[in-house]
Amino acid sequence: MNVSEILIRESFSVEEIAFMLQAEAGDKAMLFEKAAQLKELHVQNKVYFRGLIEFSNCCSKNCLYCGIRRDNPYVNRYTLTDEEVLNAARFAFENRYGSVVLQSGERGGDGYAKKIESLLKKISQFSQGRLRVTLSCGEQSFETYRRWFESGASRYLLRIESSNPELYKKLHPDDELHRFETRLTCLDGLKKAGYQVGTGVMIGLPFQTYEDLAKDLQFMKHFDIDMVGMGPYLEHPHTPLYEFRDRLLPKIERFQLSLKMIAVLRLMMKDINIAAATALQAIDPMGREKALKVGANVIMPNITPGKFRNDYKLYENKPCTDENADDCQHCLEARIALAGHEIAYDEWGDSRHYRGRTKNQEPRAKNQEPRAKRQEARTRSQCLKDLHDSALTTPETGS
Ligand code: SAH
Ligand code: SF4
Repeated sequence: MNVSEILIRESFSVEEIAFMLQAEAGDKAMLFEKAAQLKELHVQNKVYFRGLIEFSNCCSKNCLYCGIRRDNPYVNRYTLTDEEVLNAARFAFENRYGSVVLQSGERGGDGYAKKIESLLKKISQFSQGRLRVTLSCGEQSFETYRRWFESGASRYLLRIESSNPELYKKLHPDDELHRFETRLTCLDGLKKAGYQVGTGVMIGLPFQTYEDLAKDLQFMKHFDIDMVGMGPYLEHPHTPLYEFRDRLLPKIERFQLSLKMIAVLRLMMKDINIAAATALQAIDPMGREKALKVGANVIMPNITPGKFRNDYKLYENKPCTDENADDCQHCLEARIALAGHEIAYDEWGDSRHYRGRTKNQEPRAKNQEPRAKRQEARTRSQCLKDLHDSALTTPETGS
């Protein structure tokens, strides 16, 4: 087997994928080069910004790898007020981001579902539907997913974490709250509810093999996913999985493996959106920009108010925890230009794959109307004017 032979194929076996994931030196360069070419051809060298709002670190789950798991007593728990969330969303809108991501620990209950529903409606209202909203709020009932979709969310991120049920079990407590089957049901439900669906895995986990990772990529392909966010696993000292840190690849190898995962996925799914995960930046300051060069096309600048950042530590060394949103934006812009990419301001950057996948379906809800039609309703400057005239203008996260 050799990489140049594999690269000319249209589809790959598990063995071939695993082989590419172990490519080094010239073979690795060839893989990256091919991924970069395909990216330019299918999604261009554009980068879409999604402003990440980590609105709460309260979580009812206990994933064994995660720093904000329920049983970590060292976490200062917080939940942003609606006003704080809306101010951050306004910051994204005013800075011409096409969308925001609302992410939190996983919570059940009607109060939580209603809070998000109401936030979605308010964001949709102030931006006149011009700001796309992605949710990353874990496993919920189909009814909740449907309600959130109807209220204005159009994308959802729910990582499968590992597509190997045995490995999944090793990463989660063995109880009803943490079932692999539930995660699959949720991913199915998200598709049925009409979302652009994103998933992903952690890379370089203890007990994980190259074959597992190859199968993860095949899972994404078979599930016909629209978006992927995947990055290196980073150990956190206040988690049970920390016990297995001796089994981990050195961080720099986890980083390289993550880049290879992105590159191979771009070969397998040419028109999806692939996010350059923040965890890459925790290992290499230019990590996300390097990911852009080998196939990623989405970056999620953190626009959570600075004072809460330190309390949303899923893993160690999370970057930019001492900065505010605008500081982050300036450093990002310079780095992206350095990487030879253009930031697609004012564009939603919907997954092209989703458009292809759903082209023959009826629009599922109001927020799935074609962009051109929605743009007729109001111009951006009208919306911004209204925003400035409203009583709620001073973004806490902005300058
Ligand atoms: N509670 C939601 C969203 C927040 S967690 C959910 O679980 O979906 C978002 C992602 O952070 C998880 O899917 C997981 O893949 C990632 N994550 C958690 N702990 C991590 C760690 N130690 N290293 C790398 N990624 C981690
Ligand atoms: Fe909670 Fe998500 Fe962390 Fe699991 S990964 S403990 S659900 S925040």
